Amino acid sequence: MRRQSPFAKYLIVESGVLLIVAVLVGGLAAVRLPAAHPGRSASQYLVAALVTLVAFGLCAVAHELAHVVTRGELAGAAAGPLVSLGLGGLLGVTTVVLTVTGAGGLSVSVTAYVGLANLALAAVTLLPGESSDGGRMLRAWIWRTTGDARRASRGATRAGHAIGYAFLLGGVVSLVGGAAVVGIWLALTGWFVAAQL
Ligand SMILES: [Zn+2]
Repeated sequence: MRRQSPFAKYLIVESGVLLIVAVLVGGLAAVRLPAAHPGRSASQYLVAALVTLVAFGLCAVAHELAHVVTRGELAGAAAGPLVSLGLGGLLGVTTVVLTVTGAGGLSVSVTAYVGLANLALAAVTLLPGESSDGGRMLRAWIWRTTGDARRASRGATRAGHAIGYAFLLGGVVSLVGGAAVVGIWLALTGWFVAAQL
């Protein structure tokens, strides 16, 4: 088998979650932008949605690069979600500052959506699973504290299953209860976490 670069390896492992977040933030931009900023041309909404997706893509690259350049299993796994959390916080503060200073318009919404997408990426990748960042952190931590590699893998896998099925169940309950967007998001996330095990 051809050897993959560490960057490509992380990107492939996390492509599912990146796709889920990209579809959600793209959908959010497409639906919310015309409602929040009425009276613009269709091409303006389209450009703003595309800018949102491209900016999120760049933030995702930063997440993957953080994994690659950080040494150590626990620190390397934690680096990606930490970068996403930092970017999410930074963009959140930027959104607040722009809003307070009266700079309305599409760009403020785009900043807010990209910030939200980063926070979502951090949250989903921190969920424990066989190959998720949270799962690798949990496995490295159990391994370090017990010195038992097999027990560490089992612990991370079980935690991933439990979280995945809990999210799937939460998604189905939300869908039945009429909360379609939340339901689909929970179900997709649960499926992602449970299926990769
Ligand atoms: Zn990651």
